[in-house]
Order: sequence, then structure tokens, then C-alpha cells
Amino acid sequence: PTAAAGAPADVGGNDGLFTAAQGVLPGGVNSPVRAYGSVGGTPRFLVSARGPYVTDADGREYVDLVSSWGPAILGHAHPAVVDAVQQAAARGLSFGAPTPGETALAEEIRRRVLAAERVRLVSTGTEATMTAVRLARGITGRELIVKFAGCYHGHVDSLLAQAGSGVATLALPGSAGVTAAIAAETIVVPYNDLAAVEAAFAERGDRIAAVITEAAPANMGVVPPLPGFNAALSRIAREHGALLIQDEVLTGFRVGPGGWWGLEGRLEGWAPDLLTFGKVVGGGLPVAAIAGRAELMDHLAPSGPVYQAGTLSGNPVATAAGLATLQAADAGVYARLDAAATALSSQVSAAFTAAGVAHRVQHAGNLFSVMFGEAAAADGVRDYAGAQAQDTFRYAPFFHAMLDQGVSLPPSVFEAWFVSAAHDDAALDRIVAALPAATRAAAA
Ligand code: PLP
Repeated sequence: PTAAAGAPADVGGNDGLFTAAQGVLPGGVNSPVRAYGSVGGTPRFLVSARGPYVTDADGREYVDLVSSWGPAILGHAHPAVVDAVQQAAARGLSFGAPTPGETALAEEIRRRVLAAERVRLVSTGTEATMTAVRLARGITGRELIVKFAGCYHGHVDSLLAQAGSGVATLALPGSAGVTAAIAAETIVVPYNDLAAVEAAFAERGDRIAAVITEAAPANMGVVPPLPGFNAALSRIAREHGALLIQDEVLTGFRVGPGGWWGLEGRLEGWAPDLLTFGKVVGGGLPVAAIAGRAELMDHLAPSGPVYQAGTLSGNPVATAAGLATLQAADAGVYARLDAAATALSSQVSAAFTAAGVAHRVQHAGNLFSVMFGEAAAADGVRDYAGAQAQDTFRYAPFFHAMLDQGVSLPPSVFEAWFVSAAHDDAALDRIVAALPAATRAAAA
């Protein structure tokens, strides 16, 4: 195959590019899951994307179910977003001074999420959660953080801690390079387990600064909160003088206009103290945010003593992409996202059933993923232990059979599938046509 436009001509297609990349980038990538480690094979090097499709360096087109890991809710290279970016770029790339677009983006966030009375823009979700944790510690004067096994909040040292071995077990470092002292400040409890949260607070409640949770977890596969779980976290944190940080980096402005809070907290009448956003809020460029009540957010410098800063924070080109994306994401867009996710997930489930593969498709709004195995099929998966216990070996053959037929899925069973509003009938039909062979591959 000939290399597609945009690929360096002398290194050929995917194979040549991966070889070259491995010579200069650790593992050949700039973010680990892109390396196809858990599914094997050569990662596809993408050279362009439009609507629901991506094109690789071999010139092959795929229906994309990664959507840049979430941001591309409108589909790739949406004309309104590209236009906004081009116009902003023509005015200058970065000024290191306040710009009008930052206020406009923050106001759009606040319009959608009432608890976002004040917003601080940063560049990545990791920065957002890192800052939220520092802010919670600065406000409360306490050091401990409660997080849930299987929830991902970016590569912040204290939030990389993985599952402890029971209620309120002090976590072990989840990555080399995270010191035991830092890990010891994170209490890891099983997801959806309120008794474990209560026990952690009963033991050390006067030292806990915050509970941080994905608003609806989608980094251990999709594991929705049980009814009332998030509301109870809010109550427990408040009773102990701690803060609730809801991480909506992935769910924010994707599962609905007001993110997961708009589907749940708004209806139930409660709100987290702090929220974090990313992905969609930047529309494909690096924007993320910390938000919350004014009296909490005003602890951030320069209003308050909790330091946070960034050379590229609120970058004018990036904020233009985010603002254009949110402005285009009207009720019709969310209706299309939900319809595409509903149609696709039911077809996926039917295909696995036809192939005799025990499974359950789990949903959190328009996010979904497939959990494999008899236990998952019978009872569903409600925590990280359940997610790890599934028949993970079924995913790699399924993934590659889909890829061979022109469908790009997330290269890990522990990731959500991301549709966009551009996934029209033609795109969905291509995915559905690939399912029989791929589900048979998974059954083997
Ligand atoms: N929080 C959640 C829920 C995420 O899914 C992610 C990234 O996938 C992050 C935080 C980190 O965001 P970033 O990759 O932009 O640092």
C-alpha cells in the first residue's frame, strides 16, 4: 500500500512509522495505551480524520470508536470548530495574558453546570485533578484523599494508587516512581461500596480532605454508579468536613449538556464541591478545567493561597476549539449521540449473543463497554475486581477482527466506546456488518 498524504514518504506506512517511532519515543508512543500493548500488533498511525472516520498511514479508512478518547463528540474536523481554530490561530497563537475567549468558555461551562460558579482553565485533565486535590487540601488543611479502585484521574502521583486489599487499606504505589509516602496519603476503596467509604471516614475522617470519584467510571470499562451512590458520597463528605470532587473529565459535556451531574445531581438536588473537566471542553485541543463554588475556588491564587499556574492555560486557540464545540453541542447533538450509542450497543450485544459469548454491555449515558464472562452476564460488574475478573482474553481477537474490517475500537477492554454525533447510519451499518465475524473470533 502507498503511504497516505501526510505520512513521511520515506518510512512507509504503519509498520515503518512504528519502527521509526520506537527508535525515538519510549515504546513508540506518547501515551501508553496507544501502543496496542494489551491487544498486540502494530498501532495504526493516523494521518487524517473527518466525521466518524479516520485514515491511517497505509491509506486505510476506519469507522472510529475512539473519538480521540472522548473529545470528538461532533465527529472529527467539524467545520465550525476548524473554522474557529483557524480564525483564532490567525490572530495569534499564545499571548500569556488574559483573553476574551477564556471568560466566554468559563461562562458556557457555568451555564451548563450550576455548581461551576468559578472556573480555572488548565491544559490537561491530569492538571485539573491535581489542582482539585491541592485545592481540597489547601481549603481543609487535611492531607488524605479517598479514591476508588479502578477510577482513573490522570497520572497525578497520588491518584495513580491502585486497589488496596480491603477497606481503607493504605494503597501501594501504582507506578514506579511514586513514593510510598505519597501513596500513603491516598486511601483506595472499592467502587460502589458505601460501607467501605463510611469505614474509611470512621477511621480517619478528621484527616480526609476529599473524596475523588469519576462521576460515572469509564476507565475500568463502564461501571455506572449504583442509584444514590454519588449523592451518598456528597453527604458523607459533608458530614466529615471533607470535599467531594467529581471528575467529569470523561463524562463532562459528553453524556449530556450538563455532564453526568446534569443527568443525576441536578435531578436529585445535590452538587459536588469541586468538578474537573477535560476532553470535550477542549474540542480536541488541550483545555481542561477545575470548577466549583466561588468560596472554594477563590482559594486559588491570585485570590487565595493555593498556587496554580500555566504558561499555556486558557490558550486562545485551544479555548476557541472548546467554545465552538460546546456552542455546536445542542440538544440535537446529544440526541444523536444517545441514539447512536443505543442502536450500536444493542447490535453489539445481539451479535455476541448470536456467537454464544457470555457478556453484558454496561452503560453510563451514551458511554458503553462490553464486559465478558458468565459472572458479568449474570450479575453485571460494579467494581474494579469484577472488571478484572471478566474474560479479558476475548477482547484482542474481537478488536483485531473489527480492525481488519475497518472499525477502530479502543485498544483495551477497559476503555469505553466513544460514538459521536457524526456516526450516521452509514457509519453504524459498517460497524454492524463487521460484528458477526468479530464476535465469532471472540468466541473461539
Ligand atoms: N480523569 C478522567 C476521568 C479521565 O478519563 C482522564 C483521561 O482519560 C483524566 C482524568 C486525565 O486527563 P488527561 O489525559 O487530559 O490528563
